[in-house]
Amino acid sequence: MNHPTIPAFDTAIIGAGVIGLAICREILKRDPARKVLIIDKESHEAFHASGRNSGVLHAGFYYKAGSLKARFCVRGNRALREYCFERGLRINECGKLVVATVPAHVQQLNELHKRGLENGAEVSLITEAEAAKIDPNARTIDKALFSPRTATVNPKDVCAALLSECRSRGATVRFEHAFRSYAGNTLTTSREPFRAAQLINCAGLYADAIAHSQGVGRRYTVVPFKGLYLKYSGSSDAIRTNIYPVPDLRLPFLGVHFTKTVDGQIKIGPTAIPAFWRESYQGFSRFRPHEVPAILWQELKLFLSNRSGFRTLALEEIRKYWKPYLVRLAQQLVHQIDASEFREYTAPGIRAQLVDRVNGELVQDFLIEGSRENLHILNAVSPGLTCCFPFAEYLCENYQL
Ligand SMILES: Cc1cc2nc3c(=O)[nH]c(=O)nc-3n(C[C@H](O)[C@H](O)[C@H](O)COP(=O)(O)OP(=O)(O)OC[C@H]3O[C@@H](n4cnc5c(N)ncnc54)[C@H](O)[C@@H]3O)c2cc1C
Repeated sequence: MNHPTIPAFDTAIIGAGVIGLAICREILKRDPARKVLIIDKESHEAFHASGRNSGVLHAGFYYKAGSLKARFCVRGNRALREYCFERGLRINECGKLVVATVPAHVQQLNELHKRGLENGAEVSLITEAEAAKIDPNARTIDKALFSPRTATVNPKDVCAALLSECRSRGATVRFEHAFRSYAGNTLTTSREPFRAAQLINCAGLYADAIAHSQGVGRRYTVVPFKGLYLKYSGSSDAIRTNIYPVPDLRLPFLGVHFTKTVDGQIKIGPTAIPAFWRESYQGFSRFRPHEVPAILWQELKLFLSNRSGFRTLALEEIRKYWKPYLVRLAQQLVHQIDASEFREYTAPGIRAQLVDRVNGELVQDFLIEGSRENLHILNAVSPGLTCCFPFAEYLCENYQL
């Protein structure tokens, strides 16, 4: 059937986060004649996770060899770094130390080092004295892991640059257009409809719901995890580099750490507190009561089964709502920091963490479901920012986008 009045596109992308924008850019780089539409329900790009993260370009040593995260992270770090240089975007190349706070962590540092080497990351195991030269305030037991390639960027600047590049390559971008349905090549939104031969869902916290509406990925569901950050108002010289604890490798979270932001400021976080609705940033803002029962039910099942160590995680994370506890965790990573200078929270971020309803586990890797014509990017969690360029290349190559 012909719809002459409805604007027609080859590809429609849902979501103007870093993943949707990077995919749009890659498609148009490969095929400048392609008619690509991006819709987003918010008023501007990077409204959700893409503009509310730590802004760290990860170096690639956390992820199991062979996983998509491991395959993309080293290349992604390099590519995003180059993009920042080319576009004149700020980047803080201050590196990172992973420190041991208890003797048992030393063995895990070895494991991270091994993973890093397997993944082709530039990473070295150094002594306590060497770590002190990199950052005299970093506190560790015996050894530390040093990653010179970890850097920080402003993720909002990166997304703004990507958006402007997509537009200049000919993409049509429509904000305040929420996805409603897609059937028979007709894309219905909260405003006008469009025609599109191909749909790519990069909707972050709602990617699972949109996939389900297309009969895709029904075994997966998003459980939101809230990431709170505290800003340090004392001297920005207190920390020279990003300082991270040894993470629990069963979980897809890295633990409360010090981030040295792109402008040299210091923040601690993020937490990974299970949330009860998807966009639960503050108080009851964006409260959607209909989301609560399903999310609560998933969390209860994870809690009772303790799969992926969820019970331990949840009990630990809830405590981080108490500011002094959060600060105390960060204090373990350094010799000295003035606890009274952690006053203000910065914008929280929420992770669109996927749970596999069949085996009850938190999904660790990025997940792609569907077909070339109807593609769904699920579990684009950390290090999604770092990985955005190779991720987009992979999709174009493997799904002939
Ligand atoms: C606390 C936190 C810290 C992180 N730290 C890092 C880090 O340091 N380094 C790193 O590499 N990664 C990090 N990440 C991960 C990174 O932020 C994500 O991987 C990345 O932002 C995912 O991008 P996205 O485009 O998939 O999702 P989003 O940025 O969430 O974009 C999805 C978009 O879809 C839109 N949307 C949703 N539903 C609809 C609908 N129905 N209709 C239309 N539009 C819709 C939303 O408005 C949104 O703009 C962190 C994430 C969090 C939450």
